[in-house]
Amino acid sequence: ATATAQSSAQAQAQAPYKNPQLPVDRRVADLLSRMTLADKVGQMTQAERGALAADPAQVATLRLGSVLSGGGSVPPGNTPAAWVEMINTFQRYALSTPLGIPILYGVDAVHGHGNVYGATVFPHNTGLGATRDARLVERVYRATAEEVTATGIPWNFAPCVCVSRDERWGRAYESFSEDPRLVTRLGAAAVDGTQRAGVMATAKHFAGDGDTEYGTGSGDFTIDQGITVTNRADFARINLGPYVSAIRHDVGSVMPSFSSVDWTEDGVGNPTKMHASRELLTGLLKGRLGFGGLVVSDWEGIHQIPDPSGAAAPTPLQVRVGVNAGTDLFMEPNTAPQFIQVLTAEIAAGRVSMARVDDAVRRILRAKFELGLFEHPYVTAGPIGTAAHRALAREAVAESQVLLKNSGDLLPLRPDSSLYVAGRNADDIGNQAGGWTIDWQGRSGDAIPGTTILEGIRSVAPRARVTYSADASAPIAATDIGVVVVGETPYAEGFGDVGAPPWPWGTEPQKEPKLLTLQPGDRAVVDKVCSAVAKCVVLLVSGRPQVITDQLGTIDALVASWLPGSEGAGVADVLFGREPFTGRLPVSWPATVGQVPINVGDKAYNPLYPYGWGLRTGARHGSSLDGLRDAAQARVVAGRAGAGWAASLAGAAAAEEAGNTAQAAALLRKVIRS
Ligand code: BGC
Repeated sequence: ATATAQSSAQAQAQAPYKNPQLPVDRRVADLLSRMTLADKVGQMTQAERGALAADPAQVATLRLGSVLSGGGSVPPGNTPAAWVEMINTFQRYALSTPLGIPILYGVDAVHGHGNVYGATVFPHNTGLGATRDARLVERVYRATAEEVTATGIPWNFAPCVCVSRDERWGRAYESFSEDPRLVTRLGAAAVDGTQRAGVMATAKHFAGDGDTEYGTGSGDFTIDQGITVTNRADFARINLGPYVSAIRHDVGSVMPSFSSVDWTEDGVGNPTKMHASRELLTGLLKGRLGFGGLVVSDWEGIHQIPDPSGAAAPTPLQVRVGVNAGTDLFMEPNTAPQFIQVLTAEIAAGRVSMARVDDAVRRILRAKFELGLFEHPYVTAGPIGTAAHRALAREAVAESQVLLKNSGDLLPLRPDSSLYVAGRNADDIGNQAGGWTIDWQGRSGDAIPGTTILEGIRSVAPRARVTYSADASAPIAATDIGVVVVGETPYAEGFGDVGAPPWPWGTEPQKEPKLLTLQPGDRAVVDKVCSAVAKCVVLLVSGRPQVITDQLGTIDALVASWLPGSEGAGVADVLFGREPFTGRLPVSWPATVGQVPINVGDKAYNPLYPYGWGLRTGARHGSSLDGLRDAAQARVVAGRAGAGWAASLAGAAAAEEAGNTAQAAALLRKVIRS
């Protein structure tokens, strides 16, 4: 008996799938031919680390293909060593199964590896969109992937290549832009940066997640997780470009959106859940777009597929519709055993074909082979938050700052200025990091190591005399320049920061879209400081534009700082002219809440600041259009631009992004001559 066991172990060791010299497809086919149904169904299942914590042996008993950390789900200790130990433990169980198929671990590192204490936290995508710098985005995502690797993880659920068309959406900051072409360009750079560092990227959420009515969507549990009401032409024009390009750049995985599509504008209503859409996942994504990687569902994504039976999710209907629609790997964080049971029964009943199952498993195995998991299943810890990565983050922060207004050339400030710094986001690293930082929702206060904006001011301008008072209760000297840092507090998904009650709609914060107005306390600090000082700078630390039109008259300089992350010194770099302001709006900045949604190309387009707006300080000309844009913006600032200037400027920015320099220049000249 021992001899037989030995020889079968030997045969296994020599199995073609274990041979790294063979082509991946050959290895996949060989392994697939050895797998039982239980092996296959297990491979299609992804559980959450927290659900396995009590009994990690489930990785083996359930034959799990994958494990994830949802936002904020971290191993005790939350150091790279702790992550690595956790993943190696799961891996040991996976390798103890007869075929020894390694697990694939996934995580959301959407602005740096913000899950891990001590990681470099980069600006959220909206800030990166403001840089328009694909090379920078590639470096940022590469550095992120290096820190992800340092915790032993081969797979990132990023980038979000969402095109944010309604800033009331609580994930607007996860989007590079409202302009599909800018998202397409930067999304491809993010995929490249991630995958060149050996980590598999995920383009998400396929598709239309940023284009839902009222900005409703993921995490909003009251309005059906968002419906994109559209027609096929607009859907393709606005939402598909980033996927076409991500696929061209070999993105390893795609995640469907929680949202639904409603083709009402094509005369067909009946919203279809993306997770249930065979037309879009199989016909379009895997078919016409030729996506050969793996489709991973979103968190309990199939549980939202309507099932009149009312059975506990995941129901047989949800599982078979989900599998047959084209998802390969199912994120079933806390319901992996149920999913496995139901899928097994659906296959036995012939409602899910073996061909479909084999296709799903092939895609998952291919990813594992390509990532080298069979050769190197165990991982070691590496450095995070390195000086080089922090320097890169600081550079990204500086490039992302958008100077919206600069009366009398107040900025850059002199390094020996006398400053009165106020506002709840001036010295709060948690607020400047935003959501997806340590916790899923992020957290205010001392959440991560790094530099706040106030600390950045003190270090960049050591000779400045700084008075700091968060609520502006300290007395204000008449000669001071006020620097007020306000905006949003952290959130993820849903509608986001709706501030403190009373809410105009009642008691539940998640029930209504965000109004995009500053909270009363923030408004009061702006009023108080800006009316008391000679000159006043307001920095908005927020994931999206804040409607500030009625206070603009008292503000001399206004800066969109977005959610800069751990390196607040990058903000100080541009404030004091160590670096130029070069950032430009990735989204239109509304003048009123009633204008939202407002996007470049809209018929009546009257934002406060158009898409692409951004004043520059001390910058040398980058592109041939920079000088023209400066002149056009100067004309607007002087109040001498004719009607339609906003549409022309935004149109010029979109034309520039489309590579149509001649058209962009013509539109800018139109503003200059108006
Ligand atoms: C989000 C995804 C994320 C997943 C796993 C979901 O709630 O929509 O973007 O990748 O959770 O954390």
